[in-house]
Amino acid sequence: MSNLICPKCGRTNDKIEFIEAFCIDCYPVKIEAPTKITFERCGRCERMKFRGDWIPYNERKLNEFIISKCKGDFESAEYDFVTQNAVFTITGGSRIKKEILFELTKTICQQCSRISGGYYEGIIQLRGNRTKQEKYAKMLIEKLEKITFITKTEEKEEGLDLYVGRSKPIVRLISDLGIKTLITKKLVGRDQGKRLYRTTFLIRFD
Ligand SMILES: [Zn+2]
Ligand SMILES: [Zn+2]
Repeated sequence: MSNLICPKCGRTNDKIEFIEAFCIDCYPVKIEAPTKITFERCGRCERMKFRGDWIPYNERKLNEFIISKCKGDFESAEYDFVTQNAVFTITGGSRIKKEILFELTKTICQQCSRISGGYYEGIIQLRGNRTKQEKYAKMLIEKLEKITFITKTEEKEEGLDLYVGRSKPIVRLISDLGIKTLITKKLVGRDQGKRLYRTTFLIRFD
């Protein structure tokens, strides 16, 4: 192969890869990419904040997001988290790299901060038949943990109390399951101008 000299930087093709007459760094292709992308990750549950929601950490989604922030003349692209480079495949199959720093800031999500603060909006009181109490407690915890969180469970002489992060999911779940419940709502204070209620759900088994 004959010696090529890049007209822009003067490097030769025994030192660096060439695309047509230019070295790969100087080849005139228009790609705009951010220099840095930052995401928040919860230090407790390890979820990441993605488009406003806390979701399980997912590099595939992050990859797609980073690439969606890049514009220009490329056919496909992939982000490499190890080298922190986006690799763009341009027409003809050549690959061009651009550095995009990827930063994860550790924070604590609202849910984890509420759990650690002992926050709860609802109490499910299971009373009556012990065997049924245990059976239902297990099932309710399992279902509720998918949509909210359980702050604590308390075993009392009269029955089981489940302290639940948010009360709306309890209302929905109980009506879905068709369980007969006595609901009492109590105003316990205000949080940033919003009324704060605590709801008790009494379920009695025969
Ligand atoms: Zn060059
Ligand atoms: Zn968290």
